[in-house]
Amino acid sequence: MTQSRVAIGSLGGTITMTSESEAGVTPTLEAADLVAAVPALATVASLEAKTLAVLPSASLRPEDCLAALAWARAAVDGGAAGVVLVQGTDTLEETAYLFDLYWDRDEPLVVTGAMRAPQRPGSDGPANLLAAVVTAAAPESRGLGVLVVMNDEVHAAARVVKADSMAVDAFRSPVFGVLGRLVEGVPVFGNRPARVPALDDPAGASPRVALLATHLDDDGELLRQAVAAGYDGVVIAALGVGHVPAALAEEIAAAASKVPVVFATRTGAGTTARSTYGFVGSESDLLARGAIAAGWLTPVKARQLLWALLAQGLGPEDVARQFAARGGAVA
Ligand code: GLU
Repeated sequence: MTQSRVAIGSLGGTITMTSESEAGVTPTLEAADLVAAVPALATVASLEAKTLAVLPSASLRPEDCLAALAWARAAVDGGAAGVVLVQGTDTLEETAYLFDLYWDRDEPLVVTGAMRAPQRPGSDGPANLLAAVVTAAAPESRGLGVLVVMNDEVHAAARVVKADSMAVDAFRSPVFGVLGRLVEGVPVFGNRPARVPALDDPAGASPRVALLATHLDDDGELLRQAVAAGYDGVVIAALGVGHVPAALAEEIAAAASKVPVVFATRTGAGTTARSTYGFVGSESDLLARGAIAAGWLTPVKARQLLWALLAQGLGPEDVARQFAARGGAVA
C-alpha cells in the first residue's frame, strides 16, 4: 500500500537543542536530524522535512509563524495528508492558536515539541514527533483544525495551555479536556472541537497588542501608558471571571473609547462572565464601559486573536463579534 505523505517543518525549541559542554542547550538541530533520530517514522508515512527556523520559541515572530503557515498550506496543496510543525513549547499555546485561526484546510496541522532536550535521559522529543506524525497521517484527524500533540495526548489549539514549566505532561486542556489520546500508536478521539471559519490572512502591518496582567492595587497607569504609546489594542488578564480594581475600570473606559480592550481571566482555566457581578470593576461594569469579554480564551490566546483581527483591519463591532464567536465556542 502506498504510504501517505506527511510534511515536517521545524522552527526550533528544546526538541532541537543540544550542548557540547556544561553550558545550557541552544537550538542546533535541523528538521532532517529530528527525522533521522526516529527510524520508526519511516513505517508511518513518507516524509518531507524542512527547517523553517532554528530559534527558541520566545523569539518566534508573527512573520515566522505566517511563513510556516504558508509552507504548511503549500505542503497539503502538493499532496501531503497532514503537516507537523515542531517548535519550542514556551509559546506553543500561542502559535498553535495563531495557526488555527488561519488554517483553512481539512488536512491536520499538528504542532509538537519536547520538554526534555535530545541529550537528556528520557527525552520526550522522539515519542512526541512520532505521535505527531501518526496523528497527522490519520484520516480521523481530518477537519479538526490545528492539533497539539504532546505526551501521547491530542489537544485543540484553541484550548491547550502550557500549565507547568518543567513537567513532561506540561500541556493540559482545562475544563473540557483533551480531544484524544494515542493508544498503541493510533490516535483515538473522544471529543471534537467546535470549528469556526478561518480568518482572512493579515492585510497590513503587524499591529501592536499589549497584554497587561492586573493585580491588587493596580492604578491603571500601565494601561494609560500603553494607549499613549500607540498600542493598537490591549488585553487585560483580569481577576476571576473578569474583575479589576475600580481605578483600572476608569482607565479601561478611557482606553476602550480609543482602541479595543479585551478582558480575559488570569486564573488559567474557566471563562469570563457577563452578568454575575455588578460592582465597579466587575465583568458587567467592564462590558458597560466598552470592553470585550474573551470568554474561554486565555489571556495569551485572546491577545493572539486580537492581533489577528486587527491585522485583518476589522473595526470594533467585528472584533466584538469575533470574540463572541471564538471565545464562546467550546472545543
Ligand atoms: N521548554 C521550552 C521548549 O520546550 C524552552 C525553549 C523554547 O520554547 O524554545 O522548547
